[in-house]
Amino acid sequence: MTRPALLSLDEALPQLLAHAQPLPGVQSVSTFEADGRVLAQDVTSALQVPPQDNSSMDGYAVRVADCVQAGALLRVTQRIPAGSHGTPLGAGEAARIFTGAPIPEGADAVVMQEDCEAVEPSQVKVLKRVPIGQWIRRSGEDVTRGAKVLAAGDRLTPASLGLAASIGLAQLQVAPRPRVALFSTGDELVMPGDVAPDAMPPGAIYNSNRFFLRAMLQRLGCDVTDLGIVPDQREATLQALRDAASHHDLILTSGGVSVGEEDHIKPAVQALGTLNLWQLAIKPGKPFAYGQVNRTDRASGACHFMGLPGNPVSSFVTFLLLVRPFVLALQGVRQTEIARTELTAHFDWPRADKRREFLRVRRNARGGLDLFANQSSGVLTSAVWGDGVVDNPAGQTIAPGDTVSFISFTEWLA
Ligand code: AMP
Ligand code: MG
Repeated sequence: MTRPALLSLDEALPQLLAHAQPLPGVQSVSTFEADGRVLAQDVTSALQVPPQDNSSMDGYAVRVADCVQAGALLRVTQRIPAGSHGTPLGAGEAARIFTGAPIPEGADAVVMQEDCEAVEPSQVKVLKRVPIGQWIRRSGEDVTRGAKVLAAGDRLTPASLGLAASIGLAQLQVAPRPRVALFSTGDELVMPGDVAPDAMPPGAIYNSNRFFLRAMLQRLGCDVTDLGIVPDQREATLQALRDAASHHDLILTSGGVSVGEEDHIKPAVQALGTLNLWQLAIKPGKPFAYGQVNRTDRASGACHFMGLPGNPVSSFVTFLLLVRPFVLALQGVRQTEIARTELTAHFDWPRADKRREFLRVRRNARGGLDLFANQSSGVLTSAVWGDGVVDNPAGQTIAPGDTVSFISFTEWLA
C-alpha cells in the first residue's frame, strides 16, 4: 500500500483514468434500447435525408417561370400526397402537393395553399410572386450520403436514436455495460425496511449511500450487482471480493477508506491485489481508494476497485468527480469532463479552505446562486435542496456578486 499523500483532483483524475481502458467487446442492441448507451463504432449514412427534395407545405408545386406576376392561372394536372410521387410538371401546370411529398421533376417552388385560390377543380390562381426554391426541403439538407452522423464514443440520447433511425438503423453497435459490484461497509449500517425508525438501536444509521450509488451507476449504463452490506469479517470480505472480481469489471464500496480506520476491506483488497489510498485535496470527499483485485479463476486480468468515503455527501461528490468519468471511460467515452456555467454568487463564503470545495447551491429566480446553509459532508439534504455545486478553488473566498463556476446536477447525473 502506498502512503497517503494529499493529491489535487487535477493530478488524481488523469492517473485514475489511465487505468480505465475501454472494456473489450461490442454489443448489438435495438435502437429502441440504446438510450444512454455508448456507440462502439462510427455511424455513417447510406442515404440522403431527406431522400428527395420535398414540400414543407400543403399547397401547389409550380414552375417559377409561370408565376412571374401575381395572379398567374395554372392547370392542376396531378395530386401528390406524402408517400407517393408525381410525374414531370409541364409548362403552365401546377401539382397539388402535401407536406413531405416529393417535388415533381420540372417544379422549382411550392406555393402554400393560403396563397392560392382554387378557380375551378382543375385550375388554381397563384396570388403572389413566387421565389425559386420556396417551401422546398432539399435532399440531404439533414444528412448527406456517406456522412458520419454519430461517432464511436458518443453517448446516445433520445435525439440521436431518432437520427440513427432516420438513416435506417434498427440496431446499433454499443460498448458493453460495465458490470459493477456494489458493497457498503460499516457495522453501524441498517437497511430501511429491516428495522423501523422507532426500533433503531443506539449508534445505528440507515444505509443511504447504497441507494444513490446504485441509482447513479444505473444512470451511467452500468449493470449493478448490489451485494449489500458486507459483514465485517475477514473471511467474508475476502470471499466477497474474490467472487465479485471474477464476474465484474469494477467493485465499488463506500465507507472504511479513512486513514487508520480498522475495517476489512482495505487489507482484503491488498491481500488480493493492489490498493492505493489517496487523500484528495477536495471538500467534501477527502479519502478515496483505487486498486485492483486479481482474478483467480479462468477469467484473466484484474477487476478495478474503487473505495468511496462513507459520509453521504462525500460519497456522492467523489462518485461524480471520479467514478462517473471512470465508468464512462470504461464504455469508451472520450470526453468525460462536465460542463460548467459561470454564474453570480448571491451569497457570502468568507472563510477560504485549503482544499478545493464543491459547495451545494441552488439557482434562484434572479439568475444567481443561493448557498445551502449547512455544508457538512454528512448533510444529504444539501444535495437534494441544491441543484448543483460551485467548484470553488482552494484558498478562495466568495462575496456576493462574484462570478463562480457552477456544475448542474441535472447534467452531472445524466
Ligand atoms: P467511514 O468513511 O466509514 O469512516 O464513514 C464516515 C461516516 O459516514 C460515518 O459517520 C458513517 O456512519 C457514515 N456512513 C458510512 N457508510 C454509510 C452509508 N452507506 N450510508 C450512510 N452513512 C454512511
Ligand atoms: Mg466506516
